[in-house]
Amino acid sequence: MLNLDFHPSGRHFLQIPGPSPVPDRILRAMSLPTIDHRGPEFGALGCELLGKLKKVFKTESPVIIYPASGTGAWEAALVNTLSLGDKVLMFETGHFAALWQKMALRLGLEPEFLGLTGAEGWRHGVQADMIEARLREDIDHQIKAVCVVHNETSTGVTSDIAAVRRAIDAAAHPALFLVDTISGLASADYRHDEWGVDVTVSGSQKGLMLPPGISFNAISDKAIVASQDSKLPKSFWAWDEIIEANRNGYWPYTPNTNLLYGLNEALDMLLEEGLDHVLARHQRWAAGVRKAVEAWGLEIQCQDPEVYSPVLTGVVMPEGVDADEVRQLIYERFDLSLGMGLGKAKGKMFRIGHLGDCNDLTLVAALGGCEAGMKLAGVVLKGSGVTAALDHFANHPLEAAK
Ligand SMILES: *Cc1c(COP(=O)(O)O)cnc(C)c1O
Repeated sequence: MLNLDFHPSGRHFLQIPGPSPVPDRILRAMSLPTIDHRGPEFGALGCELLGKLKKVFKTESPVIIYPASGTGAWEAALVNTLSLGDKVLMFETGHFAALWQKMALRLGLEPEFLGLTGAEGWRHGVQADMIEARLREDIDHQIKAVCVVHNETSTGVTSDIAAVRRAIDAAAHPALFLVDTISGLASADYRHDEWGVDVTVSGSQKGLMLPPGISFNAISDKAIVASQDSKLPKSFWAWDEIIEANRNGYWPYTPNTNLLYGLNEALDMLLEEGLDHVLARHQRWAAGVRKAVEAWGLEIQCQDPEVYSPVLTGVVMPEGVDADEVRQLIYERFDLSLGMGLGKAKGKMFRIGHLGDCNDLTLVAALGGCEAGMKLAGVVLKGSGVTAALDHFANHPLEAAK
């Protein structure tokens, strides 16, 4: 129940894997007055940020910005490229992959859902060989698109997007390749052009360190060609008018002006730091958090060390412990928000976000909240995760991690 008398001092620890903490520099940029979105200053801002945005997606092609959460950009990716009844091949990595599949069904597509089952389910990344085998069977090219989630936020597992591209090419299949990196962009390595992705979907409130409210489609030439034949109804999401207006830095309808100030600032922060440095920082934090989980003697949801997420870590609770009760206790006692187990993982695990505007000590504090809270909840821990993470951070300076 919401306790309105609860006014904790100090900063709240927002350690969910999105929305992530918004840096003061971005909040200040967003506090500037809202301007005329048809005026000259706005056009200059639009051109500038659309250019910088391409660098973060690692693309030379257009990136569309929507005033919508990530779910809107998911829908945009499907309705701009596909037609009623089209078969799409999707891979079940976790809850977000399942939600995208449900959306495809609701839009009148025919999704086929591949995935690992049983104890293996939701604990590994995409299996490119399964995609290749299925595409090879599809001799008359009924499958129009392959859809994969790059960083599965419900589990803390990434997927090898380059391997899926190789699988599609090995099967010599013409399907479009659609990728959700809503939580991966700017925290996990991502390369739209190099990996031959046709539509990349992303959002503002995860690695980009912005509040929720804008989302993205990075698109390839092949996707633009597909959009000209695609028959699913679209108007708000249609790429053509947005691309046209974007040439001069404008949008066909009112964009999210103040969030775009924030986006421009976020892009400056990321590009000034250098993307390689940003990615190394996330890998190092993730390794420190895993050291903590290991020291506690608990299991990590991801079972494949090759694809541990640099964005978040899923911590599995021992049999008989309700992860949501532990989370609630941690929230109430330590003013620390952790991600809940979603879908099939509900009550079995919690998720620690280590993305965006964190540092070693905010993470150590967050781990302190987890450790103290688990003890209070009666979870038997093997040792101190806080000490293990502190030691890891002390012994692995970031410069050495690069
Ligand atoms: C957050 C997230 C979404 C949903 O985005 P919303 O902004 O909540 O609409 C979809 N996919 C992944 C992988 C996500 O992390």
